[in-house]
Amino acid sequence: MKYQPVIGLEVHVQLKTNTKIFCGCSTQFGASPNSQTCPVCLGLPGALPVLNRKVVEFAIKAGLATNCQIAPRSVFARKNYFYPDLPKGYQISQYELPICEHGHLDIAGDWGTKTIGITRIHMEEDAGKLVHSDIPGLGSGSGVDLNRACTPLLEIVSEPDIRTADEAVAYLKKLHQIVVYLGICDGNMEEGSFRCDANVSVMPVGADRFGTRTETKNVNSFRFVKQAIEYEIERQIEVIEDGGKIVQETRLFDPNSGETRSMRGKEDAHDYRYFPDPDLVPLVISNDWVDEVQLSLPELPEAKMQRYQAELGLPPYDAEVLTASLPLAEYYETCLAAGAQAKVAANWVMGEVTRGLNDAGLEIAACPVAPEQLVALLQLIEKGTISGKIAKTVFDEMWQHGGEPAKIVKEKGLVQVSDTGEIEKIIDEIMAANMGQVEEYRGGKEKVFGFFVGQVMRASKGKANPAVVNELLLSKLKG
Ligand code: ADP
Ligand code: MG
Ligand code: ZN
Repeated sequence: MKYQPVIGLEVHVQLKTNTKIFCGCSTQFGASPNSQTCPVCLGLPGALPVLNRKVVEFAIKAGLATNCQIAPRSVFARKNYFYPDLPKGYQISQYELPICEHGHLDIAGDWGTKTIGITRIHMEEDAGKLVHSDIPGLGSGSGVDLNRACTPLLEIVSEPDIRTADEAVAYLKKLHQIVVYLGICDGNMEEGSFRCDANVSVMPVGADRFGTRTETKNVNSFRFVKQAIEYEIERQIEVIEDGGKIVQETRLFDPNSGETRSMRGKEDAHDYRYFPDPDLVPLVISNDWVDEVQLSLPELPEAKMQRYQAELGLPPYDAEVLTASLPLAEYYETCLAAGAQAKVAANWVMGEVTRGLNDAGLEIAACPVAPEQLVALLQLIEKGTISGKIAKTVFDEMWQHGGEPAKIVKEKGLVQVSDTGEIEKIIDEIMAANMGQVEEYRGGKEKVFGFFVGQVMRASKGKANPAVVNELLLSKLKG
């Protein structure tokens, strides 16, 4: 029997606000345990939550950028469960009336373009964190750090429209790109700012009802999501083929083995005893506010990609690569602002810069060559001071040791030789030493031309101006 996988993703996006969702405590990462807490986020009885307006604004932004309808009225609800990192015994979330609904995103890939529905986006608070280790002054054991409690999250829930692990990754990348472009999330997956629960089921091809799903929690890299989903699809098919049944459960992904394992039986919504939080009034959002937020949206990836093609004349491939991440696009745009030619800068950013970053395992933000320095280098090529080839040597030097390109060129004596007399002298010597090849060329074997160019460039240590070399060689070889 053939099986059809069905996948739906729940993504938790940690919002980049300065303070928490229901109190004024800082959201700064990495402070000493429980130093960023107050009665509200500690969950002390009687402390009252006050909604952070910025969180609502960010949620509206996310909704608009994912084609959702923004609810004029939405409601916070208590999701009740027990865990030591949740002192209140409930999480404030949204349930029946979330802030955004009925959205969608298009994903492109081998499958063409496909629309993935977004069921809802809701706001909620994060829980604290258990720390299992040596606790200063207490010895080994477990402690609770409530710095993260009350950190604002968006939960973005997709429809079960996804059919393969690759589609799931494409959807996640798109969503990640959007929240980073919007400036509402730092996108740091390792620190958990963007994490995903993958719901996976399989059904016989042609079945009219989905199979039972499992939910694999908190997968925090694109690669892991792909692995976890592929593993889960295979596992479920095997269970069914062996005559077993899939149980609805929560599973954990183990990055070391690439496998998922059972964590606990999955609760149903009614287990949480959701009810509207009496401490928070319903959230009313005016059309004016939505319009205002709409106007404040930055240029999104899709629009940027179109603009790079229409205004800068870049090929679609370049436009896509350069806009894939906002920091890369910003680096590129800084080059343009500093006076670079669009296509030349595109080639360098996608070529040398990206290669250097990949080799060094660096993010663009940590690029050792600043955009202004790169442009200064490109201008040396444009003026004919150095050749494109020498520029790569200079670039490597800038990458390794820093410094201004003009200074490096001068210090290392890399200025391009365009003086015809000097180049002619080299050509004469090389022709004299290779009369055999000269005869071949004159006998019609034009391929030998490349050999001569190579020899001349080598003899000039790469400094001869290639255009001048070509021109002079041509006339001399013709005889
Ligand atoms: P819960 O909080 O119980 O996980 P949600 O409604 O928040 O429920 O999320 C359900 C997620 O599971 C959605 O992304 C949805 O698309 C997905 N889903 C629902 N049914 C299936 C199914 N049979 N197979 C795969 N995914 C599913
Ligand atoms: Mg869930
Ligand atoms: Zn607080």
